[in-house]
Amino acid sequence: MSESIHRTKTRPVKVGDLTVGGSNELFIQSMATTKTHDVEATVAEILRLEEAGCQIVRVACPDERAAYSIGEIKKRINIPLVVDIHFDYKLALIAIEQGADKIRINPGNIGRREKVEAVVNAAKAKGIPIRIGVNAGSLERKILEKYGYPTADGMVESALHHIKILEDLDFHDIIVSMKASDVSLAIEAYEKASKAFDYPLHLGITESGTLFTGTVKSSAGLGALLAKGLGNTLRISLSADPVEEIKVARELLKVFGLSSNAATLISCPTCGRIEIDLISIANEVEEYISHIKAPIKVAVLGCAVNGPGEAREADIGIAGARGEGLLFMHGKTVRKVPEETMVDELKVEIDKLAQEYFDK
Ligand code: SF4
Repeated sequence: MSESIHRTKTRPVKVGDLTVGGSNELFIQSMATTKTHDVEATVAEILRLEEAGCQIVRVACPDERAAYSIGEIKKRINIPLVVDIHFDYKLALIAIEQGADKIRINPGNIGRREKVEAVVNAAKAKGIPIRIGVNAGSLERKILEKYGYPTADGMVESALHHIKILEDLDFHDIIVSMKASDVSLAIEAYEKASKAFDYPLHLGITESGTLFTGTVKSSAGLGALLAKGLGNTLRISLSADPVEEIKVARELLKVFGLSSNAATLISCPTCGRIEIDLISIANEVEEYISHIKAPIKVAVLGCAVNGPGEAREADIGIAGARGEGLLFMHGKTVRKVPEETMVDELKVEIDKLAQEYFDK
């Protein structure tokens, strides 16, 4: 496994049984797409997300029906549940009472001080954090008038405004997101935020698009931030099945050596030297290793000419040869395998390596 990028240290904040921030690993988050009051559908979707590797999940809470469903949903899932509330402090109080592990609400939008105090006191009593969600598309009018249009400085000013309201009530279990759909703006805002305060950052590029365009956009934005050591939780926002968000997030973390529980595929781009049906083999092996929870690297290469040597960093791999495959480990050929069985033999060896990792 590659060396982890040095993470910027933040204040640690508990979310359910996880500690976000500090020097802890980054956690993958997603959001249910179901109507929250439809408990069956919401639980089913969250369980699918868990299976895919989601570590924290958020649900929308637009009304009392949704708020009163939180307790039942909580009982039937295994990861921390974040409840997303806009403006209505009563919904926040119900969600907290029902057992939310974190609420997302901007204190500056709640209204009168008594209402803010009620929410903060309830969160304190249950020991749960509040996420402040700054969004470039919905900055306060005062800030927009000052800066003319959404800017990173304006977003940081908005975050500090909401943070101050909580700090004045001696509340410090805060997580902040600085989302924008403009990638450069989001990067600048997160960078400035990390210098302005030490609360954990939830990363996201909002309204990033469909599976294809959203993956590119989110990976560009979040990749730049991860490379700088920023971020404590992240969500890839896609107009797609949220399970796809988890798959993209897992791959992105692997790219930066930030995932300690997932296998990585290395596959060649193919060229005129190709000796096997590489594309379908690569897809099959990718699907297979998506369930492997050990940080091993698996290579699938089209030919043996440059094959094993090109993938020296792989723990194990196969390279096509005429009518057969070469099974190799760390750049050295171990044995020849018939073409018909080479994928199955590779899978057996992958399982052995994963087992060795867990036996260590
Ligand atoms: Fe071409 Fe072989 Fe390299 Fe694949 S491994 S790109 S087939 S030379």
